[in-house]
Amino acid sequence: MENGLVVQIEDVSFRYENENVLEHVSLTVPKGAFLGLVGPNGSGKSTLLKCVLGLLKPNSGRIFLFGEPIESFREWHRIGFVSQKANSFNRSFPATVEEVAASGLAAKRGLFRPLTHEDRRAVEAALAAVGLSGLAKRNIAELSGGQQQRVFIARALASKPDLLILDEPTVGVDARHVHEFYELLGDLNRRGLTLILVTHDIGTITDRVTDIACLNKRLYFHGKAEEFEHLGNEAISQFYGHPLHVLSHEHERAE
Ligand code: ADP
Repeated sequence: MENGLVVQIEDVSFRYENENVLEHVSLTVPKGAFLGLVGPNGSGKSTLLKCVLGLLKPNSGRIFLFGEPIESFREWHRIGFVSQKANSFNRSFPATVEEVAASGLAAKRGLFRPLTHEDRRAVEAALAAVGLSGLAKRNIAELSGGQQQRVFIARALASKPDLLILDEPTVGVDARHVHEFYELLGDLNRRGLTLILVTHDIGTITDRVTDIACLNKRLYFHGKAEEFEHLGNEAISQFYGHPLHVLSHEHERAE
């Protein structure tokens, strides 16, 4: 039953062999949110994403997608995913921008089945949404890293998802285009798309997202982006090295 929550993570723990990677993580993402999931490298962000995408099964805890327990969730077309490594083509990659943007739909439809008229319109609309209509016939390898990343967003949008998850999407995008890229995500969010953006780079996102979750095995903060900014720089930088509450004790001892 849909309940206005796109993702509900309830007390999820996960370990690889003998390493605990997620400990009692609980997190909800309401419809219309733009959540920044932040944490240093190795803090369990990708592992949590894989649990949400159904690729890893938590050792304990529960996950619901659109109100449905993940075990019985079938509407995977409602979730788009753009991975970190999406934008690294070599010059000889033989596909056009529109072919790459259509490839998600083609994969769903089955090999060698032509795209329908409706599919083509969805691809056109997705390329328009990311501002790449004019480059549809170009080879993807000729585009900049930032443009290639937008093609992958278009590929995900072509399936008309309700939730878009992006894993470190600005890696390989040059600094000049990062701003544009976040403008695009903000735009999509204002038009009703729920977004989860995973990054180790907290500095670039606090004023771009609506909500922030800080993960380092456990969840150290989850709230509105403004509340996070009120924590102050010191607390934020400390989170990157140590659990916040441990640091506050160390701080007392030092005084
Ligand atoms: P992040 O995405 O925040 O960088 P990860 O979820 O990739 O963090 O990794 C969290 C921890 O789990 C790290 O210590 C990493 O070494 C470990 N890890 C990740 N994948 C595996 C795996 N397949 N097998 C064993 N350990 C893993």
